[in-house]
Amino acid sequence: DAVASVELVTRRLLAALAAPIDVGDQEVYVGVSIGVALCPADGTDAESLQSNADAALHRAKAEGRGTVRFSSPELASRARERLGLESELRRAIAGGELRLHYQPQVALATGALVGMEALVRWEHPERGLVPPNEFVPLAEDTGLIVPLGEWVLGEACRQIWAWDATGLTPRQTAVNVSAVQLNDGHLVDTVDGAIRDAGIDPERLELEITESFVMVDRQRSSHAFQDLARMGVQLAIDDFGTGYSSLGYLQRLPVHRLKIDLSFVRDMVTDRGSASIVSAIVALGHGLGLEVVAEGVETEEQVRRLRDEGCDAVQGYLIGRPMPAEAATDFLARFAPSDLDPAR
Ligand code: C2E
Ligand code: MG
Ligand code: MG
Repeated sequence: DAVASVELVTRRLLAALAAPIDVGDQEVYVGVSIGVALCPADGTDAESLQSNADAALHRAKAEGRGTVRFSSPELASRARERLGLESELRRAIAGGELRLHYQPQVALATGALVGMEALVRWEHPERGLVPPNEFVPLAEDTGLIVPLGEWVLGEACRQIWAWDATGLTPRQTAVNVSAVQLNDGHLVDTVDGAIRDAGIDPERLELEITESFVMVDRQRSSHAFQDLARMGVQLAIDDFGTGYSSLGYLQRLPVHRLKIDLSFVRDMVTDRGSASIVSAIVALGHGLGLEVVAEGVETEEQVRRLRDEGCDAVQGYLIGRPMPAEAATDFLARFAPSDLDPAR
């Protein structure tokens, strides 16, 4: 029957691709995952077959390399949901349903406010405020991250301008950018355009790129990093410690800051392993001449430990939650450096 013969073909494909490929004097291994949709069981038109195969492929990838998954009613309904969400998100970007919230960062040595991080939210008409983890991955898969990221950059630059005009400007405001934006090749132009349109000093803008992404496509990311740094934009590596950095490569990147992933900050007080990772990241960052920022700081105890380690700045609920632009402006206006006094 159809399922058995498709099964056989996929096994043969996997076996054929499991062998190493010679590239110059190196052996390269290719990981393969296969998603299958059958006609007519999983659809009778190209679009639904393709989206069901795609959903099966996603599942296969999540289960690990070398896996074959067939479409199922459950996967198919999730695929429909994704399709619905995708068109809703498309409308949201064009229709002004995205918002930026801003979270403050404070220097440990002086208690001064040194930065803000812009974090996107989707103000959904029925679902309320949707966090980025629920739509950024979909946006990355579908390419919608490009217009979404453009909106975020434009909006953040306008906000930097507005703060500058009232004399409240934080040293820099950070925007998260996805590897998909970096690889799409237009990031440098988009950033340049956003800075010019808003008429801000490029040094006021910082871009955060997740560590694991930085290392994926080195050739391309390194060029983009050089161009952005030349423009005067600040660069930070986000979620540091979770990826697989090549330290030699990191050393050559024109980055300014490392952000310690919040999982290590959360566990550093109770877990010695996490504490040593924090300590190693601070030493590494300082050794490379970079500033080190800790994310997800929620307690005074964490602040004390991070200060002992020599960490430069902290960001987290203890200092302030991510907040809408107006509240962030209030926060900036009211902030006093003594707010993070260790003796408090
Ligand atoms: P991230 O850049 O690592 O941001 C830090 C996340 O930790 C934020 O979650 C923030 O709200 C949360 N956080 C801050 N302080 C604390 C704390 O004290 N405790 C805990 N438990 N969490 C804290 P959020 O806003 O949900 O964003 C999640 C992720 O979504 C971000 O991680 C970032 O990778 C991504 N993201 C956010 N905005 C954008 C965007 O505009 N573009 C792209 N491409 N990605 C974005
Ligand atoms: Mg970030
Ligand atoms: Mg992070």
